[in-house]
Amino acid sequence: MDYLPIFLNLKNEPCLIVGGGPVAARKAETLLQAGGQVSVLAPTFHDLVLKLRDSECVTLIQKVFQSQDVRGFKLIVAATDDAILNAQVAEAASAHNILVNVVDQPSLCTFIFPAIIDRSPIIAAVSSGGTSPVLARILRMRIESLIPPAYGRLARIAADFRTRVKQAIKDPQIRRRFWENVLSGPIAELVFAGRDEQATEHLEQAITAETSGNESAHSGMVYLVGAGPGDPDLLTIRALRLMQEADVVVYDRLVSPEILQLVRRDAEKIYAGKQRNRHTLPQAEINRLLTDLAKAGKRVVRLKGGDPFIFGRGGEEIETLMNEGVPFQVTPGITAASGCAAYAGIPLTHRDHAQSCTFLTGHMKDGRLIDIEWNQLSRPGQTLVFYMGLQGLPEICSRLIQHGCPADLPAALIQQGTTQHQSVFTGTLKTLPEIVSRSGVKAPTLLIIGSVVRLREKLAWFRP
Ligand code: SAH
Repeated sequence: MDYLPIFLNLKNEPCLIVGGGPVAARKAETLLQAGGQVSVLAPTFHDLVLKLRDSECVTLIQKVFQSQDVRGFKLIVAATDDAILNAQVAEAASAHNILVNVVDQPSLCTFIFPAIIDRSPIIAAVSSGGTSPVLARILRMRIESLIPPAYGRLARIAADFRTRVKQAIKDPQIRRRFWENVLSGPIAELVFAGRDEQATEHLEQAITAETSGNESAHSGMVYLVGAGPGDPDLLTIRALRLMQEADVVVYDRLVSPEILQLVRRDAEKIYAGKQRNRHTLPQAEINRLLTDLAKAGKRVVRLKGGDPFIFGRGGEEIETLMNEGVPFQVTPGITAASGCAAYAGIPLTHRDHAQSCTFLTGHMKDGRLIDIEWNQLSRPGQTLVFYMGLQGLPEICSRLIQHGCPADLPAALIQQGTTQHQSVFTGTLKTLPEIVSRSGVKAPTLLIIGSVVRLREKLAWFRP
């Protein structure tokens, strides 16, 4: 280990930055965040440094650096663009045993700045030991995506309850397991969703349950999660975390195998997929299943293609949970319209083409399209997106033409959008049904209609 990572208490401690440019300003900000009293010394100051004067904790010292200027400081940063001057600062600081950092010159430093992930009071720091700050920053980004922004609030709640839990649960091993469950389970998720009050209530209940040995008080939770349109990279960070913490995952046909692979390995996976007119599990049974699993204390992820609230019957599922008193949360996903449009190079709105965009279902019932206001849809300046529109494609196109849409209005059918199997078929209202029927297209497909489709000629970028 080339450096020892430690966390320094700088509250109200005098710190000196030598240099008056943007780098000096950045370092000053970091020290200010840590509560330091910061002096910035330079003959002239950049605007970014001058702006810092607004803070009571900043003093600007306008002069040329001399060795004795280091006296009385706890920590010094040399941030000038003059290597000789920087070395002088380092030497003066070392002579007085003051911690010193010289920007971009690790060999002159007694300490180096890490890349910081600040979820105060939780702080993570990453260092490459001065070898590659960019690498450290990339790592920081990765770690940042793993630590939800609300981690700080979670830590504070944990601190509030620390003594209580210590008194209530005497056995250190059981106590540790208790905290593990709290900090990586439904209670933590409530905090991440901004429901701190409910989290505290649950924590109270969990303590009571633990001390009274009352297992039934451990209630499970259902997370209704949107898995996006197919590309696993399009999962939200929260979706991924929930999938990796789940006890059970109940998933749909639209959830791609690549995404399922990201589910925690030991989690039970239950297929509840539906195919047109062939329901594997009737909706009522899915609702019952989710309720039962949660009541048995499981952490259930109900994983749905796209967004659960867009043609996903998510509303119905959580209505049942609500009626049964089962706690739940909803995590949105990228819906097929956004995903497919982006990967097909078709902006859904565009100043010159479409000022609105309508999502519709092209689902057929008894061989007929369900009620749709065709008159409204045939007005120009809009984009129409039909989900489940493959079977009804000929009827959708002919109805639009009947109601006044130009027969040469561009239309595209996107098959398995955002995946490595994506194909896009383009034509017009008149030609697309024929093109599609000749091509042996397979579900899932999304139909986009409107002059925005023409932009694809220029904007197509994704080549699976
Ligand atoms: N909740 C989902 C939609 C469920 S309805 C969402 O928000 O995306 C199912 C329909 O979604 C399919 O019939 C198809 O029209 C569309 N769909 C979902 N994923 C798709 C994909 N990768 N490519 C094309 N269409 C898709």
